[in-house]
Amino acid sequence: MSLIFSGMQPTRQLHLGNYLGALKNWVKLQNDMDAIFCVVDLHAMTIDHDPETLRNNIREVAAAYIAAGIDPDKNILFNQSSVSGHAELNWILTCHTPLGWLNRMTQFKEKAGKQKDNAVLGLYAYPVLMAADILLYKATHVPVGEDQKQHLELARDIAGAFNRYYKADGFFPLPEPQILGEATRVMSLRDGTKKMSKSDESEYSRINLTDDADTIALKIRKAKTDPEPLPETVEDLEKRPEANNLVTIYAALSDTTRAAVLAEFGGQQFSAFKGALADLSVAKLAPIAGEMNRLLGDKAELDRLLKKGADRAGEIAARTVNEVKDLVGLVRF
Ligand code: ATP
Ligand code: MG
Repeated sequence: MSLIFSGMQPTRQLHLGNYLGALKNWVKLQNDMDAIFCVVDLHAMTIDHDPETLRNNIREVAAAYIAAGIDPDKNILFNQSSVSGHAELNWILTCHTPLGWLNRMTQFKEKAGKQKDNAVLGLYAYPVLMAADILLYKATHVPVGEDQKQHLELARDIAGAFNRYYKADGFFPLPEPQILGEATRVMSLRDGTKKMSKSDESEYSRINLTDDADTIALKIRKAKTDPEPLPETVEDLEKRPEANNLVTIYAALSDTTRAAVLAEFGGQQFSAFKGALADLSVAKLAPIAGEMNRLLGDKAELDRLLKKGADRAGEIAARTVNEVKDLVGLVRF
């Protein structure tokens, strides 16, 4: 059976990269397969956080999912920490993950920076918890942005190692990454070599789903570009990271290709293109922000939806945890 699992961390506000690399694809995929969409709040604790802000962000991310078009009745939508199986399976999987595998993870190196000894164990072990998130539901497909490819490969390796160790061929399916659409890696607006991230200190590096029209226009106007007009071909575009990023965003937002965008704007100055990109971004994001606001105005209803999702997820998770305990040799009553 096919099943989708994916999630986002409630660290700060969601941005255009989260939307184009993941959320927009989830909305399409929910029609084809059963799906579980999680607000991965335990992951958000791997970096510095403030409890009150975390609480707000959890509800905001849930509201963003629904506002973007995720149906909370058809799919399971919940927050990770309300299903204890994530933490339980995490521990068991840590006992099957060689340190050498984790040492290869590039995201840890980027996030820990130069101060590796001060980085917390949770940040280092984060990919194992991510594997537990997916395997707890025996998910087969994981729609994510390009940056998560390495973590998903690790999840597959851990699943394979577990199955082999307990001679339980096929117990955990090996989850397939689904890296879809035109904008699988949206770059920072300030630096075409860095991915757009929630954790980037610069607000001008990203467009948040909740930015108002003036803020979006300002951020796009300030976005780094080179002095040349837009190129005519995709081949020339690929030599210019910042230009490539803006054209890719335009293509993804309008469900077309970079070649089609260049057919329209190739040879023009960036000032004209940036104006069109700002208008398009506002047209696509403002309805989502409006709906998020409306949903956040009724916290009781949002919490009711999350609780219902957690109950449904909890049933599946409990089944897997019991099966895992039996396989590994733990006694349960
Ligand atoms: P953080 O900086 O806190 O890690 P993030 O922006 O990377 O935040 P996550 O919550 O880690 O966001 O990721 C949620 C989803 O969004 C994942 O599927 C991830 O691959 C995707 N994603 C994140 N950033 C981008 C990006 N710049 N382009 C495309 N997809 C992205
Ligand atoms: Mg991330």
